Amino acid sequence: LQSKLPHLGTTIFTVMSQMAKDHNAINLSQGFPGFDSDPVLLELVAKYTREGYNQYAPMAGIPALREVLSSKTERCHAYRPNPETEISIVSGATEAIFCAITAVVKPGDEVLILEPAYDSYEPAILLSGGISIHIPLKKGDFSIDWERVISSVTFKTKAIVINTPHNPSGYVWSSSDLDHLAQLIRDRNILVISDEVYEHITFDERKHLSLIGHEELREKSFVCGSFGKTFHVTGWKVGFCIAPPELMEEFRKIHQFVTFSTVTPIQYALAEYLKTPSNYESVSEFYQKKRDFFCQGLKTTGLEFSPAQGSFFQMASYGHLSDISDKELAERMTKELKVACIPVSAFYHNGQDHKFIRFCFAKEDSELQEALGRLEGLK
Ligand code: PMP
Ligand code: GLN
Repeated sequence: LQSKLPHLGTTIFTVMSQMAKDHNAINLSQGFPGFDSDPVLLELVAKYTREGYNQYAPMAGIPALREVLSSKTERCHAYRPNPETEISIVSGATEAIFCAITAVVKPGDEVLILEPAYDSYEPAILLSGGISIHIPLKKGDFSIDWERVISSVTFKTKAIVINTPHNPSGYVWSSSDLDHLAQLIRDRNILVISDEVYEHITFDERKHLSLIGHEELREKSFVCGSFGKTFHVTGWKVGFCIAPPELMEEFRKIHQFVTFSTVTPIQYALAEYLKTPSNYESVSEFYQKKRDFFCQGLKTTGLEFSPAQGSFFQMASYGHLSDISDKELAERMTKELKVACIPVSAFYHNGQDHKFIRFCFAKEDSELQEALGRLEGLK
């Protein structure tokens, strides 16, 4: 068989989590919380399962969840998407991103990706026959080099994939970034796929600015989100997409043949749980404590970093300590120090190694404390 994606192996998240397991290491690699969700939410799922909500949900998602998500979006971003025509519930943000890209990218179309980038964007583009154009984020703070973005646009540019808060750097878009993006796509036929899965995890009073809250941008964007990150339930794989009706119509054509619909009892549970804003408005504060705790400990390990602005990841550089590759460092840390992390070269299409590693700090403080103690061994 001739592979359709010959350059790809197994994702780094699977590889590192397996390595952590094999070597009994603390797993700060793949991004998932080391604690459970609110018992209230767990009980709601149990309740709806018991009450028989166990058959196919409507293709676009159950109306109650789309309705409450619409109200939540209005509360957070002052725009109320039409739950009938502008919102779909899907099986994780990964599906939302895949469906959005598949819905719009044709063979030969160019799609801009800002690197380092989450690993699911490029394969989706390639499977549609598109060409991914990789634009580096600025060294230092991983902000967007808008001049480079603009100079990468050609008459073949169909879309741009953006991600705020950003995985792996934690960079959170400013209103000036949104304005630059609006300027970029104005008068050009460029669509936006906006990955906002960490929308409720921002720090130091920073606010997540969704493209939904920007009048010009929302008219050309697929905004993709995930309940997995917000409610500590990554294994549920329930996410959503918000887009204007003409884009959503095309999106649903793909979604109906990728998964058709998404897990029913969990949709009912989320519909009820989302009615209480404090359930999502408290998440940033919760994670800010974790970030601060982790960063405090990281200071004495010899690694260099600037505290993440958002997401539940902290990147750190080690180039001043060693010149081994980030992959080798991640492997040695897992096997010898018993702490697993992600080598950030995995977020570059050509595996560029800038001597950065990424830690997930969505763990119990005791686990973070133990990991930080072990990382002292880096010195
Ligand atoms: N985008 C980013 C930036 C992510 O970190 C993740 C992590 N899982 C996803 C998308 C996928 O989200 P989901 O698990 O809801 O598919
Ligand atoms: N988003 C998670 C991360 O960045 C991983 C999700 C996955 O394993 N596919 O670690």
